[in-house]
Amino acid sequence: MTSTTHTRSARFDLRARDLTPGGVHSNVRLGGPRVCFDRGEGAWLYDIDGNDYVDYLLGQGPSLLGHAAPAVNAVVAREARRGSVFGSQHVLENEAGELFLDTVGWAERVRFGLTGTEADQAALRLARAATGRTKFVRFEGTYHGWLDNVLVTSVDGRIRPASAGQLAHHLDETYFLPYNDVAALEKAFANHDDIAAVIVEPVMCNSAAIQPRDGFLDEVRRLCDRHGSVLIFDEVITGFRVALGGAAEKYGVTPDLAVYGKAMAGGWPVSALAGSAALMDQLTAGVVHSGTFNSSVPACAAVIATLTELRQAPPYERIEAHGGTLMRKIGELGAAHGVPLRVQGLPVAFHASFGDPRTIHHHAELEAIDTAGYAKFVEVLVGHGIWVAPRGIWYVSAAHGERELNAVVDRLDSALAAETRV
Ligand code: PMP
Repeated sequence: MTSTTHTRSARFDLRARDLTPGGVHSNVRLGGPRVCFDRGEGAWLYDIDGNDYVDYLLGQGPSLLGHAAPAVNAVVAREARRGSVFGSQHVLENEAGELFLDTVGWAERVRFGLTGTEADQAALRLARAATGRTKFVRFEGTYHGWLDNVLVTSVDGRIRPASAGQLAHHLDETYFLPYNDVAALEKAFANHDDIAAVIVEPVMCNSAAIQPRDGFLDEVRRLCDRHGSVLIFDEVITGFRVALGGAAEKYGVTPDLAVYGKAMAGGWPVSALAGSAALMDQLTAGVVHSGTFNSSVPACAAVIATLTELRQAPPYERIEAHGGTLMRKIGELGAAHGVPLRVQGLPVAFHASFGDPRTIHHHAELEAIDTAGYAKFVEVLVGHGIWVAPRGIWYVSAAHGERELNAVVDRLDSALAAETRV
């Protein structure tokens, strides 16, 4: 049962399906509710049928300052008058680079790109070049982009290529280990001397927002040092979100390379690869990374405006308070309606699901939750004006305040009442 109508969205979708496969421009959008949005403003989305939504998806994370943040968009609009890309340097690049490195804190060099996917590839390539080794370690349940060597799914607990047409042998480059399991990593290093890099999502936002156990990231750091492997933090979600300096700051562990995206540019498409000068300068010594649109004027303007805003008015305490209260309310409302809603993760990026309330520490334990049931419940949430991801992640932004909290609690209450009736 839904309380909103989507007649125009449905008509739009029909037309879209004739124009682009499945009507959407990313396979991630194929499943789940289909809504055509007119615009976003702050923590709200407005669709073409006149419905509004409190948004806890934030475009999969980028809109940390809320949609169409005036502090960012005004700067982008102004600077875009210069043009976009010139095939050389432009006047905003150094400011964006300096601000970025100063904000991240530990890195000495940065290269800007467009997507997390490509920046992850550059990181892996650099690590191989630097070590002369071929393989890398990653953890079950992480996501590092959609290319052949990193795209996986899990079938009956076994890791498989996720796409038809994917060259499965590219996955032979990888040792997959359970997250939060130091012994497994020690064993991998003991058995293999070809590990160029360990790549890790410091918080597994792509898998139930699983947090690192105390000391886990320190141990990963220690083992990489001992065995001469490059430690890559995939901070595409955590960067600028879990703290101004990302997970490296929050957990006090410094990687050799890190990849950023999403929240770094107020919703504009920018990614970054950052690291030590010794590693990064290999990009002038035979390791290739390129891109027509890298470090465009609008991209640099968006980075400058976003990071300036985050530094001048850090929203992290407010976000933490909002997210923390919301996590508690979700649990309480679920219990009041007899719906087994469980939440875990960080207030700024947490995971909600149906099922066993125990904390999930690694990917395999996800079997204890009812993924399909929750995805269906998300359709009910959308019908009640809450926009969230079917896979369970909830992102909180600087634009979520008291009004949004009241709205989401009210709407969640109605949605759960509808859920218990079916
Ligand atoms: N790494 C992580 C941790 C991600 O969550 C994502 C995207 N969700 C990517 C890489 C890929 O980024 P993009 O979608 O910008 O290619």
